[in-house]
Amino acid sequence: WSKLKDSLKEVKNRWSGGLVSLFSGSTIDEEFWDSLEEILISGDVGIDLTEELIEELQKTVKREGLKTPDQLIAYFIDLVTERLVAVDGMGKEIVLDKSPKVIVLVGVNGSGKTTTAAKLAEQFHRQGKKVILGAADTFRAAAIDQLKIWGERTGSRVIAQQQGSDSAAVAYDALQAARASGADVLIIDTAGRLHSKHNLMEELTKIVRVIEREVGRDSMENLLVLDAVMGQNGFAQAESFHKALSLNGVILSKYDNTAKGGVILAIAHRLALPIRYIGLGESVDDLRLFEPQEFVRALLE
Ligand code: GDP
Repeated sequence: WSKLKDSLKEVKNRWSGGLVSLFSGSTIDEEFWDSLEEILISGDVGIDLTEELIEELQKTVKREGLKTPDQLIAYFIDLVTERLVAVDGMGKEIVLDKSPKVIVLVGVNGSGKTTTAAKLAEQFHRQGKKVILGAADTFRAAAIDQLKIWGERTGSRVIAQQQGSDSAAVAYDALQAARASGADVLIIDTAGRLHSKHNLMEELTKIVRVIEREVGRDSMENLLVLDAVMGQNGFAQAESFHKALSLNGVILSKYDNTAKGGVILAIAHRLALPIRYIGLGESVDDLRLFEPQEFVRALLE
């Protein structure tokens, strides 16, 4: 938890340091609104949401007769938090209500999918759940090997075939293994090569289709692992994966490295996708539920 606090502080320092000094200014004037706009846009909040927030705050200033920026802080926090929690599933943990629950992790190479699979496996393992990992990134031998290592470390069985095999077949195999062994959850790691995006999306769609046909959509969580460092590019990634796969949410990895948290707001606002967890490091323990209130408050603490 203290690590999360530190990370949020870091985000605050690097991104919203500007917000803190802006809100400690003496008057709400044109310059104040311009600066707020600039800080939000440079923090990856996205232009349309930035404009909406500012409009909303300007109304508040008028309605409440506010004179100084510090009087506006609580309204700002409430407004942004409201926007986040309005998105269904925001900061909600994955509930293993079906047996097996199937989690399909997607995302571009290097985003942290394999590590996130291990982090989730560790969390479930600690809850006494039986976890199976499916190595459906059959494109890279290294990804398969890496998942096997994580499987050993987290006490989870890994279902894999050799490199180049059909990823949907691996996913199907893994599901059969999960069913046969009475596993509580199957976590499927997938490919994320960027250079042939179209093929990738087809491959991922096929995996999802095969699993869905077997267990039904209710038993699945299609989650995008997104590198927080990507900023607004992360938004574009989220959009294209969501279009192809109907995501249930986003796990924001490498939050410990990020200078900007605003992409969270853009994803919530424009895609109505919840941030479920955040990754705060490279070890299996570095996964936390996303806490919207905490996130927004930390920006202005
Ligand atoms: P994949 O290609 O999407 O499967 O990505 P990997 O899981 O292999 O992760 C790529 C790199 O990012 C590895 O060096 C991981 O250790 C690192 N990584 C993953 N998650 C995090 C995180 O939350 N924070 C930090 N700092 N590094 C991470």
